[in-house]
Amino acid sequence: MRTTVGIIGAGPAGLLLARLLHNAGIGSVVLESRDRAYVERRQRAGILEQGTVDVLRAAGAGARMDREGLPHEGIELRFDRRRHRVDFPALTAGRSVMVYAQTEVCKDLIALQTEQGGPLLFEAEALAVEDADGDRPRVRFRHEGREDVLECDYVAGCDGFWGVSRSAVPADRSQIFERTYPFGWLGVLADVPPSHDELVYARHERGFALLSMRSTSVSRLYLQVPDGTDAGDWRDEEIWAELERRFETADGWRLERGPITQKSVTPMRSFVHEPMRHGRLFLAGDAAHIVPPTGAKGLNLAVGDVVTLARALAHERRTGSADLLDAYSETCLRRVWQAERFSYDMTTLLHRHPDATPFEDRLQLARLARITTSRAAETDLAEAYTGFRLD
Ligand SMILES: Cc1cc2nc3c(=O)[nH]c(=O)nc-3n(C[C@H](O)[C@H](O)[C@H](O)COP(=O)(O)OP(=O)(O)OC[C@H]3O[C@@H](n4cnc5c(N)ncnc54)[C@H](O)[C@@H]3O)c2cc1C
Repeated sequence: MRTTVGIIGAGPAGLLLARLLHNAGIGSVVLESRDRAYVERRQRAGILEQGTVDVLRAAGAGARMDREGLPHEGIELRFDRRRHRVDFPALTAGRSVMVYAQTEVCKDLIALQTEQGGPLLFEAEALAVEDADGDRPRVRFRHEGREDVLECDYVAGCDGFWGVSRSAVPADRSQIFERTYPFGWLGVLADVPPSHDELVYARHERGFALLSMRSTSVSRLYLQVPDGTDAGDWRDEEIWAELERRFETADGWRLERGPITQKSVTPMRSFVHEPMRHGRLFLAGDAAHIVPPTGAKGLNLAVGDVVTLARALAHERRTGSADLLDAYSETCLRRVWQAERFSYDMTTLLHRHPDATPFEDRLQLARLARITTSRAAETDLAEAYTGFRLD
């Protein structure tokens, strides 16, 4: 099998890259190890930055998002039983975000790819990227019980944190920057309309809580839990009681309960692999970097990477110049490190560290008070939350 760009992984990064390349007249083949139903069901991110929304629309993948997505113009910060709304458009000259689940983004892109795009092979597991720094890189993969080889001009490693493509970069060319956190998120989906019309980020002595949503009838709620927690250890009743404690306000706000349909625990990690390119292999999305979900940046960073990559490949096709491809890693890493900084800041601002001293607790409250009383501090948060420029 031969193609121009071999794409490993049909998450948001791989699927959107295939779409952008298709629109630019560049051929690709997507290899995805899981089956279609699994990819379309996997619960993950739900907040699309303004830039991501614009890119999906321009790629012809925004119609259902515009019908069913929920535009959000702010978030609420909650601490000391008080509430503070951050008004995005007022602070950022009109920017906002969209609540539209990653599962739905993937469904839309898969439908477009299967109707109009190049081959998308499910249950096709990439085993290795070979000759990444040669002229003809190859992806060895297994599909329908037999091994095959995809010969490419370029390989896009969009196979997430646990994929194989990152391991094709020799250890002496790689640098890894990493932090793990001693807590994770217990996330639940509940069949109940969201109790607030915008996301609520709550800092509480017992730990962080987040109220989010997937639609006007489905709530997505999270609780900070110790690292290594098993979701099965939490009974539904205990989850609701703990959420109520952490969201409690002095003005009597109420959390509506409903049937919990899914529970899982997400570990928290910050991770960057540099560089994001080795020869003709380009890493994009979670294959190259991970952020804790507090800043809602993971999916948006994946989109940013593939926009940069598709633009660079189209430029090379049009002009014969590899300038933009050569700049790919540096261009992406500038944005990645801003997202790493913001995600780390939001995480340490809102979570209770198990070893926090009373001094650190007071500092955390002082940081929150600063955001709620200084327009400059609040603007900094609003600008980062609604998104960084896509170069
Ligand atoms: C449980 C969880 C919850 C999250 N919640 C949030 C959130 O609330 N907000 C937020 O912004 N971000 C969140 N994220 C992060 C966000 O979902 C990711 O940043 C985003 O999915 C990155 O997209 P991607 O395409 O780079 O990687 P992925 O979505 O991981 O896609 C990679 C794809 O590659 C496939 N693959 C892997 N190995 C191979 C192989 N060898 N061969 C072929 N295919 C392979 C995988 O099956 C997968 O389909 C969450 C992540 C997780 C894991």
